[in-house]
Amino acid sequence: MYEALGIGRPVSDFAEKILKELEPRFREIDETAEYNQLKVIRAMQEARVSAECFQGSSGYGYNDRGRDTLEEVYAKVFHTEAALVRPQITCGTHALALALSANLRPGDELLSISGKPYDTLEEVIGIRPSCGSLAEYGVSYAQVDLLPDGSFDYEKIRAAIRPQTRMVEIQRSKGYQTRPTLSAEQIGEAIAFVHSINPEIICMVDNCYGEFVQRREPSDFGADMVVGSLIKNPGGGLAPIGGYIAGSAACIERAACRLTSPGLGREVGASLGVLQSFYQGLFLAPTVTAAALKGAVFAANIYERLGFHVVPNASEPRYDIIQAVEFGFPEGVIAFCEGIQAAAPVDSYVTPEPWAMPGYDSDVIMAAGAFVQGSSIELSADGPIKPPYAVYFQGGLTWPHAKLGILKSLQRLYEKGYVRLEQSVSDAL
Ligand SMILES: *Cc1c(COP(=O)(O)O)cnc(C)c1O
Repeated sequence: MYEALGIGRPVSDFAEKILKELEPRFREIDETAEYNQLKVIRAMQEARVSAECFQGSSGYGYNDRGRDTLEEVYAKVFHTEAALVRPQITCGTHALALALSANLRPGDELLSISGKPYDTLEEVIGIRPSCGSLAEYGVSYAQVDLLPDGSFDYEKIRAAIRPQTRMVEIQRSKGYQTRPTLSAEQIGEAIAFVHSINPEIICMVDNCYGEFVQRREPSDFGADMVVGSLIKNPGGGLAPIGGYIAGSAACIERAACRLTSPGLGREVGASLGVLQSFYQGLFLAPTVTAAALKGAVFAANIYERLGFHVVPNASEPRYDIIQAVEFGFPEGVIAFCEGIQAAAPVDSYVTPEPWAMPGYDSDVIMAAGAFVQGSSIELSADGPIKPPYAVYFQGGLTWPHAKLGILKSLQRLYEKGYVRLEQSVSDAL
């Protein structure tokens, strides 16, 4: 079958050798998935999920039992007091913008302690001037970069916390950077530090791509809010839209009043027809995340063996599903993305090209052949066309698909002469 899909012998021989060595890693990933699967099932049982919960509401959406129960399930999974999980939250950026704007007031300061936030948040915050940014509403912004080794800079964080510091933002995943991803435990330490200085500060974690990678989430370590997208891990590939915020009752109440309107809060917001996909996607999310994680580990091992800088590296622990491969030249990024596209079940025949995308400050190439448009829990790869010419690879609803995508990317690079497999195999032996 691999031959029929265009994978040549040199590529499959090279890949199979590497795969053999990964068995213990894969077993660990499966054990985490098993734990998280049980966590999700337990939450659904405790919240008494029933078939009626899949019945959507329309119009105002008053008394939408399925929506309210789903939010209870999310709160139980993340061990928070409350959660807001809605199709009206259009994406991860929107969920983050909502959590920020709902919980900050004019004169407050937002402090990021994990360096520059995700690209699309620059305009939300107003780091790049933008219509409707927090800056326009008089919310100031400060930032403390991570230390060169990727850990928190506690001294600078202490110095940056001022009386007007109302919220601290921590981004778990690396986003379009090649710094390490932060573990839930590391994030917990930083939150404890911030709260030891001022317990009133709201600690918000951008949890995108991190859900179910570990057994515990940042909310198990004191985060006041965790925020993410349903077309990433927790949607399990089935949610067609949506975002979530899980956190303290007060933070969630403010978010609800901002999402709908003061006075209406959580009580309006019809769930339309999406509830079953939200429930079933959450149910599948632990094993889907495991499939994506195996793909990331596999890619890291392949490309590291070929001499490229990969983040995380082949052996280090994982705290999100993203794999960065630094090619150092734009053609490498493009060839990799072409391979991922060619492995897709949908739109496999199109060729991705770098393009100017809203929210990004350089051309970006994106490869995805997804059932849900733009879903990046499905096998996808993207990279800004700027140094260090790194591609960010993530997703795969099943391990065999993730594997095929990586093999296709390698085949493409091999055919173009950017990698030499024979030599690498003999080097490895
Ligand atoms: C994807 C992502 C976002 C934004 O989510 P969208 O759904 O693309 O708007 C924010 N932060 C991080 C770390 C992400 O990975």
